[in-house]
Amino acid sequence: MDESVSIAEKGVLYVVATPIGNLRDMTFRAVDILNSVDLVAAEDTRHTAKLLSFYNIRAKLIACHEHNEAQCAERLAAELNSGKSVALVSDAGTPAISDPGYRIVMEAVSAGIRVVPIPGPSAAIAALSASGMPSDMFCFVGFAPKKKGARDVFLQSLSHRKETLVFYESPRRLLSMLAEIQHHMGDRYVVVARELTKIHEEFLRGPVSEIIGLVEDRVSIKGEVTLLVAGTSDKADVDENRLEEEILQSLSERRLSPSRLAASLAKRYNVSKNDIYQAILAVQSRMDTRGSGSDKGGPVHG
Ligand code: SAM
Repeated sequence: MDESVSIAEKGVLYVVATPIGNLRDMTFRAVDILNSVDLVAAEDTRHTAKLLSFYNIRAKLIACHEHNEAQCAERLAAELNSGKSVALVSDAGTPAISDPGYRIVMEAVSAGIRVVPIPGPSAAIAALSASGMPSDMFCFVGFAPKKKGARDVFLQSLSHRKETLVFYESPRRLLSMLAEIQHHMGDRYVVVARELTKIHEEFLRGPVSEIIGLVEDRVSIKGEVTLLVAGTSDKADVDENRLEEEILQSLSERRLSPSRLAASLAKRYNVSKNDIYQAILAVQSRMDTRGSGSDKGGPVHG
């Protein structure tokens, strides 16, 4: 960082989100910033030129894409250091989110340049917000690797996540991706969010087996797709009868205290300790009822 130039004399890097389909999804602030900066660094200058022309914005464009991002980052840092202000945009949505931009921002940060986000559309957030799936915690995954081996490892590694998983996927690979999800994660609930903000916007919601059927019935799937997959539910993969038997046996033999038994089974079944504890309480209560002469059964899980 050049200490002789104070941050006030340096330019500002604005990271500006742009529409993901509907051109009217620009924010007032994004328009103001694009109108006022010295340079707009764009993933594809021709693509961004259309957006700028829609809003009558005249700006000096330079190309910063995946293949020249490192050089571009250096050039922009030099421009910013000399006091110029720069807006970074990608083709659609929020820059640096499965798009170029991360290196440029990193370079600017390490050069002591102020970086200001101008928030707006992002397909992942748009899809999640209207999906009806749990969104208190989610895991943004972006694109899965393309090669089969790496893809298998990747999907398998995600299969234990409890949060809603958010993937970007090409429409060509959607069907095989759904089949791979089913293979690695079981019949999970999924939402396919297609062509968001565009005329043919569509949401397909249901168990992955059903969505595979729907997609198979179509000649082709067109447009852009964001895929959401439900996280694993704690008890989904557990053989409840087996778990109940183990609990019963351990409690009858008084091998472990309920709390230690819960800890040990939680680890082995990859289920939260609390869920196992509830199961233990249910088995215990059944044992007590039997012991007191009544023989009413009940569900293991409340
Ligand atoms: N930076 C962008 C963002 O913030 O959303 C994402 C860029 S990434 C290269 C492009 C992917 O985002 C597409 O392949 C698709 O998976 C998803 N996507 C973009 N626009 C979309 C839309 N209108 N509807 C559904 N998914 C979309």
